[in-house]
Amino acid sequence: MFLFKTELALRQHLDKISSKPIGFVPTMGALHRGHESLIEASKDRGCYTVASIFVNPTQFNDKSDLEKYPRTVDADLELLYHIGCDAVFCPAVSEVYKEGKAPVPNVDLGHLGNTLEAAFRKGHFEGVMQVVARLLDMVRPQMLFMGQKDLQQLTIIQHMIQQLGIEVDLIPCPIVRQSSGLAISSRNSRLDEEVLPHVHLLHDTLMYCRQQFSETPISALKEEACKKLDLPFFKLEYLEFLNAQDLTILSSHGDADNVVAVLAVWANDVRLIDNMLVHGKF
Ligand code: AMP
Repeated sequence: MFLFKTELALRQHLDKISSKPIGFVPTMGALHRGHESLIEASKDRGCYTVASIFVNPTQFNDKSDLEKYPRTVDADLELLYHIGCDAVFCPAVSEVYKEGKAPVPNVDLGHLGNTLEAAFRKGHFEGVMQVVARLLDMVRPQMLFMGQKDLQQLTIIQHMIQQLGIEVDLIPCPIVRQSSGLAISSRNSRLDEEVLPHVHLLHDTLMYCRQQFSETPISALKEEACKKLDLPFFKLEYLEFLNAQDLTILSSHGDADNVVAVLAVWANDVRLIDNMLVHGKF
């Protein structure tokens, strides 16, 4: 496995790879089975697989979240080596944000730019687009692997790729969960003892939404679902039913063939997001 810290060294290496398509998995490190599944998806497609580890400061709307973000580079490199990742890119902030090299892309996000995650995390997606556009420019992959766990991010990056005419196939990868149902996240390591026995309720609630979806009006289902998360250490930011194709918020059943339920919850001081298809397909 090769490790690169600069754009120049990365490019000199990747320019020599011609026998396989390049598959790229951007991450912020603190790697877990969710990230592993993206690397595996890339390898399964026969790609020369490049992962990046970069905690991107511009996508953190909350400074203390950036400071507290887990950093486990040695363990990450070991995991990537064992799983058979071909190359890892770990640039410094100064390498990514070289003067003039990483403008915020000019992309029309429509409603996606101001609802759900965008409403609660101001500036977050501008930072995500900025870093993903810059990384794509450096890595120049044929395939980009991203998780459905961050559904709005995935959809926004798809818009960005289309609008900027970037030649890359975005491959969505399913959510990997713990046996309790909790979606695996780097932030889970910060969950405290009070909330840990209860965080499976996020998944339970989404499952309930899926089971009840065809029999219950959306407004009533939303009310019941919110009740399930009504505990003193949870603060629900949103729970919505969306058209799975364009992520518009639904108020009634007839408005979409494919429906995904999404939620964001603070579990004490850790913010968790999750989603589940409750009707139809992605
Ligand atoms: P992050 O390191 O949190 O920025 O995530 C890097 C990539 O891993 C993103 O495309 C995420 O959507 C994806 N990812 C994170 N957690 C999971 C999970 N539990 N299952 C599948 N993909 C995930």
